[in-house]
Amino acid sequence: MTPKSSPHFKTREVHAGVTPDPTTGAILTPIYQATTYVQESVDTYMDKGFSYSRSGNPTVVALEHKITALEGGVGTACFATGMAATSAVMMALLNAGEHAVVSDVVYGGTHRLSTQVLNRFGVKYSFVDTSNAQNVQDAIQENTRLIFTESPANPTLKLTDIAAISKIAQDHGIPHCVDNTFLTPYFQRPLELGADLSMHSTTKYIDGHNITVGGSVTARDMEHLEAIQFVRNCLGSIMSPMVAFYTLQGCKTLSTRLEKQSESAMQIARFLESHPMAEKVVYPGLDSFAQKDLAESQASGFGAMLWFEVKGGVASGKKLMDALELWSLAENLGSVESLVTHSVTMTHADMDPAERQRVGITDGLVRLSVGLEDTEDLIDDLRQALQRL
Ligand SMILES: *Cc1c(COP(=O)(O)O)cnc(C)c1O
Repeated sequence: MTPKSSPHFKTREVHAGVTPDPTTGAILTPIYQATTYVQESVDTYMDKGFSYSRSGNPTVVALEHKITALEGGVGTACFATGMAATSAVMMALLNAGEHAVVSDVVYGGTHRLSTQVLNRFGVKYSFVDTSNAQNVQDAIQENTRLIFTESPANPTLKLTDIAAISKIAQDHGIPHCVDNTFLTPYFQRPLELGADLSMHSTTKYIDGHNITVGGSVTARDMEHLEAIQFVRNCLGSIMSPMVAFYTLQGCKTLSTRLEKQSESAMQIARFLESHPMAEKVVYPGLDSFAQKDLAESQASGFGAMLWFEVKGGVASGKKLMDALELWSLAENLGSVESLVTHSVTMTHADMDPAERQRVGITDGLVRLSVGLEDTEDLIDDLRQALQRL
């Protein structure tokens, strides 16, 4: 039985991509810290698969195999960061004068890359509310070459119907890439829902321990994978072997972490819903969540991200952040440490304020990334901080 063909996620998660080192038996794939690979002869060039570590590295390949075994598809390319992965997707698929349809609520860096960098190279973008498939249909032009969605979206958690958008994409022969960072392949597998590409900031849940920054793109077909690998080689944005090594280890506990973290998130969401200082609580597992049906039909879990609107706007938001002791004020998410973010001043600070308001990133939005600490301790800390407002 090869791990990739094992039917069970938890077995693939631990074993896929990694076999004992052939020379020593070491149970972990070593950090192949080398720039180049000695070839036996000109005739056998690349027979072992490697030439130079900007193009490919054995430790990175092990992680690529593991992620492919979890997401599905033909293969994965790993990157120095999630943004390097998104950049490679856009640069591989879009030429000057061509157009992409992108979710209007996306990771702040994706918005910045589109509107402040790739636009300068003649790429056109429409940002639409992809939670309504008709908006995507209406935004498609004859030069549209990419549909890029994020679901759940950062930070509002609005969902996009991945199967519905993939169907529209297929009908028009346009590739659909989903940013799957928030739910990970344990809870959601975009390729199984019909998408062509699934990307991650591995910095988040796949690493899960605040150790590395990294990214990945998994492709349904070789043509897209090769185009993305080609851009990665040109830009020099491959993941380092050290990062791949750490990520290989963190990834083994992905499902176990997510189960516990999402269970805590549910309890914290319920606590906040009952608290008078929380004006609005948004978590896909709550009955009050507008797209609960979609959350249940396209994913097998609700994730560990939630947000709430604290009474008193920016001023009390800031006070709350200062009053929290166990929750760390930080930009990352998805780690074993619980983190709190004020999106307007941190992750989405570059976005036009009017546009931010329009898509629902309000001034009092407090985003929580629930970690692995004891749930009661996390709730107690929120309680004492809210009391001080
Ligand atoms: C963090 C993040 C990214 C960017 O990843 P980096 O590793 O920080 O470059 C992209 N998408 C989402 C949803 C993210 O949370």
